[in-house]
Amino acid sequence: MLTCGCCGEYFYPWPEYVDQDQDAGFGICQGCQDDAGERVIDTESEAIALVAAALNKENAAYFNACPREKQLDFCHLLMVKGILQWHIKSGETY
Ligand SMILES: [Zn+2]
Repeated sequence: MLTCGCCGEYFYPWPEYVDQDQDAGFGICQGCQDDAGERVIDTESEAIALVAAALNKENAAYFNACPREKQLDFCHLLMVKGILQWHIKSGETY
């Protein structure tokens, strides 16, 4: 049995469970992993929308026509270059 490092509840790891916590005896429960997955998708969509809005008309049309994977690659590139910033809001885990 592990303690969820996110919500503090005890849980039993399930068969495909991958430990996402560095501390022994701790992990991330199914509910919190699902929440984090959804938040990542929300954040990715937010980043894509931000970038699309910041581009000129021509580039925005090109960017919007790209597959999501390419759009995210571009967002990541902008983050690496420091053009797009990733903020962690207090009380939320991204
Ligand atoms: Zn949890």
